[in-house]
Amino acid sequence: MADAPRTGIFTLGRLRLGVQLVMLFVTVWGSALVGHYAAEKISSSLPALSCAYDQADGAYCVLIPLQHQMHHRVGELIQQTGQFALTMLLPLAFTLLAFYVFYFFLGKAFCGWVCPLGTVQERLHRLGRLLRRPFRHLSEDAVRRLRPLKWVLLLALVLGLPLAAGLGVTPHATGDAFCQVCPSRLATTLLTGDGEQAAIRTGGVLDFALGALANTLFGFVVIASLSARQPFCRICPLLAVNAAFQRLSPMRLVKRPHDKCGKCGICTKACPMDIPEIWHESGPKAFSEDCTLCGRCAEYCPDDGVIQLKFGPVRLFGSSRPYYKARVKAESPQGETRTVRWFPRKDNDA
Ligand code: SF4
Ligand code: SF4
Ligand code: SF4
Repeated sequence: MADAPRTGIFTLGRLRLGVQLVMLFVTVWGSALVGHYAAEKISSSLPALSCAYDQADGAYCVLIPLQHQMHHRVGELIQQTGQFALTMLLPLAFTLLAFYVFYFFLGKAFCGWVCPLGTVQERLHRLGRLLRRPFRHLSEDAVRRLRPLKWVLLLALVLGLPLAAGLGVTPHATGDAFCQVCPSRLATTLLTGDGEQAAIRTGGVLDFALGALANTLFGFVVIASLSARQPFCRICPLLAVNAAFQRLSPMRLVKRPHDKCGKCGICTKACPMDIPEIWHESGPKAFSEDCTLCGRCAEYCPDDGVIQLKFGPVRLFGSSRPYYKARVKAESPQGETRTVRWFPRKDNDA
């Protein structure tokens, strides 16, 4: 794709919204169109597409086999046999390989363009803007302080507790500890009209506590999204997995050094993850571990070609001044849209 069209109806943001809405439909309601059998086949060839707890879809998320293999394969193998070398590593390697094949093409754009929970948070935030909820911007300090949390959750809930359950150290319910509290499980199943995953659980103290924690976290994400952008993404373990593979996909964000750059900071204002590096750094350091490749910084940078979305050597989108001017006329970097006028402006309105 060359430079984006400069004005008119098309913007990268609208294209991304279109892709997000199509993918939200596919990941949440797609099985109703193609039938359960086909949905299962499609889902298992598209890792990380949707929630496996969706009764209608039976889909697949890379965090599921990671937890499952820690719980049933790695943990049980270590416990039952001493010979864990190849047989322990192989299932994990297959999970990561399947994820990588998918990841190679999409990279972290899965977060910015496909993830249903990412889309739901973004739409809730847009609703918050319309309802004039106060806008909560995260400071650079807060962004940096929150960053390690996604790695902690990945190590503790996706790898640690499932492994401990497999070793018989922690209860069976912790075998898929992250899924037990994942807000995407609640968001996607509620969107299909299935309230079962949000119901109060009565299978024992731990089961009740995990259910209560999941509902509380989901409620927090919904309310926080009205004011802050992408609140759950900041601590999402799937973003940590994506960040670990970040340099292994040709899909990336590139910022070239520019002598005028570093003053305006509009890129960080437009960034839904409030990433400071895209403003202060250039080269590889500007492509932060938190980046979701949404492309908003490139849309709102007023300097030609400074920020680009690229697939290998191919430029998919690059910042440009005319595009920036057209974009800010319709929407501010922080997402406030221009008031729609239903009647022509009168002279004394000005
Ligand atoms: S960070 Fe997590 S919740 Fe956010 S878009 Fe990525 S996968 Fe989805
Ligand atoms: S918006 Fe563009 S010019 Fe301004 S600080 Fe960011 S990268 Fe530099
Ligand atoms: S740095 Fe740019 S592409 Fe990455 S999340 Fe922020 S706005 Fe989106």
